[in-house]
Amino acid sequence: YGDASQKIDYVFKLVLIGDSAVGKSQILARFARNEFSLDSKATIGVEFQTRTLVIDHKSVKAQLWDTAGQERYRAVTSAYYRGAVGAMLVYDITKRQTFDHIPRWLEELRSHANKNIVIILIGNKSDLEDQRAVPTEDVNEFAQKEGLFFLETSALQATNVESAFMTVLTEIFNIVN
Ligand code: GDP
Ligand code: MG
Repeated sequence: YGDASQKIDYVFKLVLIGDSAVGKSQILARFARNEFSLDSKATIGVEFQTRTLVIDHKSVKAQLWDTAGQERYRAVTSAYYRGAVGAMLVYDITKRQTFDHIPRWLEELRSHANKNIVIILIGNKSDLEDQRAVPTEDVNEFAQKEGLFFLETSALQATNVESAFMTVLTEIFNIVN
C-alpha cells in the first residue's frame, strides 16, 4: 500500500459524503488499509487517510477525507470541500432514506465544491441483498441523468471498493493530463 520513499507526482483530495451509518468510514478503511470493522464507531472530528498508488506510471497520492458526525444537512463546512477534486457520494442500499437524501448532498457539493469535481455515487452494503430497498435500475437512471459515475459496493466483502476509487482517480488523472 505505497512506499513512503517514492516521489509523488500528484496529490488528489477526495471527500466522502452521505448520511450517517451508510459505511463511509468502512469504505475508506477498506481502501486505505484493507480493513473492515463491524462495530465501527462514529468518526469524531474530520479525519483523512492517504493511499499512494500508480496510475499510468505516475504516483498518485489519494488524500481521503471522511466526515465525522457532521452528516446532518448543511453541517459539513466548506473547508471540508475546499480543494477536493473528487467526491464519493454514499448511500446504503438497504435504507431508502439514505438514497432519497442524495439530491441534497449533490446540491451541497455543487454549492461548496469545485464545479469540475468528479463524483461517484456509491450504493454500499451490496452484501445485504436480501434487505435491498433501493433497486439498482432506479439509481442507474438517476446517475445517468445527473452525469455521475455509479457503483454498488460492499466494504464488508471488499466488492467494488477498489474499482470505485480507481474510477474517480483515473478520471481525475485523465482530466489533469
Ligand atoms: P459511516 O457513518 O457512514 O461512516 O458508517 P460506518 O462506516 O461507521 O458504518 C456503519 C455501520 O455499517 C457499521 O456497523 C459498519 O460495520 C456497517 N457497514 C459498513 N459497510 C458495510 C457493508 O459493506 N456491509 C455491511 N453488511 N455492513 C457495513
Ligand atoms: Mg464515519
